[in-house]
This record gives sequence, structure tokens and C-alpha cells, in this order.
Amino acid sequence: MLNKAIQLFQQKLGHICSQNVPCKTFSYWKIGGPAALLVEPESINELATAIKLANTFEEVPYLVIGDGSNMLYDSEGFDGILIKIGNKLSRMDIKGTTVICEAGVWVPEITYRCSHYGLTGIEHICGIPGRIGGLIYMNGGASRRSILENTESIDLINKHGEIETVTKDDLIFSYRTSPFQNDPRIIARATFKLSQSTRKAVRSEIRKILASRRSRFPRKLPNCGSVFLSNPNMYETIGPPGLAIEREGLKGTRKGDAQISPQHANFIVNLGNATSDDVLYLIALCRHKVYESTGFKMDCEVRYLSKRGELMQAHQQAENSL
Ligand SMILES: Cc1cc2nc3c(=O)[nH]c(=O)nc-3n(C[C@H](O)[C@H](O)[C@H](O)COP(=O)(O)OP(=O)(O)OC[C@H]3O[C@@H](n4cnc5c(N)ncnc54)[C@H](O)[C@@H]3O)c2cc1C
Repeated sequence: MLNKAIQLFQQKLGHICSQNVPCKTFSYWKIGGPAALLVEPESINELATAIKLANTFEEVPYLVIGDGSNMLYDSEGFDGILIKIGNKLSRMDIKGTTVICEAGVWVPEITYRCSHYGLTGIEHICGIPGRIGGLIYMNGGASRRSILENTESIDLINKHGEIETVTKDDLIFSYRTSPFQNDPRIIARATFKLSQSTRKAVRSEIRKILASRRSRFPRKLPNCGSVFLSNPNMYETIGPPGLAIEREGLKGTRKGDAQISPQHANFIVNLGNATSDDVLYLIALCRHKVYESTGFKMDCEVRYLSKRGELMQAHQQAENSL
């Protein structure tokens, strides 16, 4: 069935399809075996066609991704279709204090462009890599803020390739949780409402945020940002995941070429040839040790994609690794 699906994609969208592409080439961790088919839509119409085609093959898994900055691909690869939304789907329009972005807009680019017009409200996302569709799916943000706070409406593509719009009143979200994590529809475009400030004030805020991130996070070795989510109850009682892992003496611990960053314990870095199993082992180790000492079970922000196409929070797969 996978071969039939690939054939159909090649017939209808051949110019944006590539076969057997190693996921590690676009993985922030530089980990991942070959994806059977990679599709990179260049317009919302092509994205809609790709989604419709992918839904005609029930047995063939597919996943829409942005930059993969929050993804752990299996070293064995992915026997399915990856639909990657990136630069080709990144039109952005600013009208007054309203900002409209296609799902592939690069997150830091949004704050940069908004700062030019002195628009304030989402400076907190200025240092976050990835695409706006991925950030919305994760309800990502920084400084305990999240992107959905400023979202007016979102255009989604359903399994028939049709566009449906949800407005902010339909959006129920919480810290790093969005309704799209349980919704098969794909984020195609988003509209944000910001407030008017001055270019100087917004740029100064962005500079402060970037300087603080540069000093705290490992930048030289491949990594996927924070591995574990900060649970508000745990934060109040014992602090953020990085601190809890550090207290267990796990900073610098290695499995193969994966290492708990000596700089920030909530980051796992790839020293060269780390595999998905190496990373999953370290995730399980941190989770287990912190649970033993504190009673808090840390869940992963990072998503793991299995060879057969199951998508889950990485700790769910890691449970079998110790
Ligand atoms: C160095 C570093 C620092 C980071 N710092 C932060 C931070 O401060 N705050 C924070 O919140 N995150 C942070 N992250 C995590 C990550 O960058 C964000 O969550 C990011 O914006 C995800 O975007 P992406 O395009 O890479 O999504 P991906 O990793 O490609 O995808 C993440 C999930 O979203 C789904 N998805 C992606 N696009 C769509 C779409 N259009 N429609 C439906 N589903 C979709 C995917 O299927 C997947 O499940 C960091 C990552 C790194 C590497």
C-alpha cells in the first residue's frame, strides 16, 4: 500500500516529492533514518491536496511537520509520508496591528518583522526556532507565555482538503497544550492581534530576551531544546526540570553519543553519532531518577515518531528503554 501511495503522490505532486530522505538531514538532533516519502508543499492548495491524498490510504501513516525542532525521529526511519511545511509556505502580511502568517513562517522572522512596525505582544517567541504551525500545535512560548494568547483565528485543513476556520473563542488551551494535539486537522495559516508600541521598545525587549537565551542554552551541539515540560506544580515545589535533573547528579551523563548537557540539564545533545535509542534511554533515566526522589513524573515536550508512524511524547516510548 505504501508503494501505491508513493506512486499516486508522484503522479499528482511529483515536483514536491522526494523518496528515501534521511530524517537526520532536517533533524535538530541530527538523528533519524529514511522517510519513505517527503512532500514539501509550496502553497496552501498543494498542502490541501497532499492532506487529501494522504487520507485516501488508511493504512499508510503520514505526519505534518514544520522544522522538526521538537521531533525525535527513529534511527530506523519512518515507513510513511512526511509533509514538511517550510519556507515555501511562508507568506506573511501585516495590516495595522493584525499579523497573518502561513504555517511555514520561521518563528523569529515574525518578531523581527513585527518589531519593524513597533508591534508588541509576542516578543517572547523571538528566540524559538521552528515554524509558526509547529509553535501553535505545541502552544509554545517563553517566559511562561504561550503563542495562543495572541491568536485571533486559525485556518485548518481537514482530511478532505477543505479549509475550516476556528476563532479565539473556540480555542481552549493551557500551558504547552493546544487543541490541535487532539485534532486531525492541519494548521495552514494563523492571524494574531498585537498592540502598538515603538520600534525602539520592541527591539530592546527582543535584544534582552536573545542575550538571556544565549547565555543559558547550549548552542554548539545538535539538540531539540527543552526535553521535558515544566509542570507548574513541580515548578512551585522543587523548580524546573533542568534543576531537578541536575540535583540527581545527571548533568554530563552519556549513553552512546547522547549526553545530558553539562550546560543545562533539560537539554540532551548529540556528540556525533547518537541514535534515537540513546536519547530515549537518557529520557527514561532522568524521568525515573527524578520520580524516585521527588514523586513528580516529568513528561516530554519532545515528540517521538516511530518507524510505523506512531507519534507520541518521547517519554511514552522511553518507558521501555531502561
Ligand atoms: C534550541 C531550541 C530551543 C527551543 N526553545 C523553545 C522555547 O523557548 N519555547 C518553546 O515553546 N519551544 C522551544 N523549542 C521547541 C520548538 O522549537 C517549538 O515547539 C517549535 O516552534 C516547533 O516548531 P517546528 O516547526 O519545529 O515543529 P515540529 O518540531 O516540526 O513539530 C512539532 C509538532 O507539531 C506538529 N506540527 C507541526 N506543524 C504542524 C502544522 N502545520 N499543523 C499541525 N501540526 C503540526 C508536528 O506533527 C509535531 O507533532 C526549542 C527548540 C530548540 C531546538
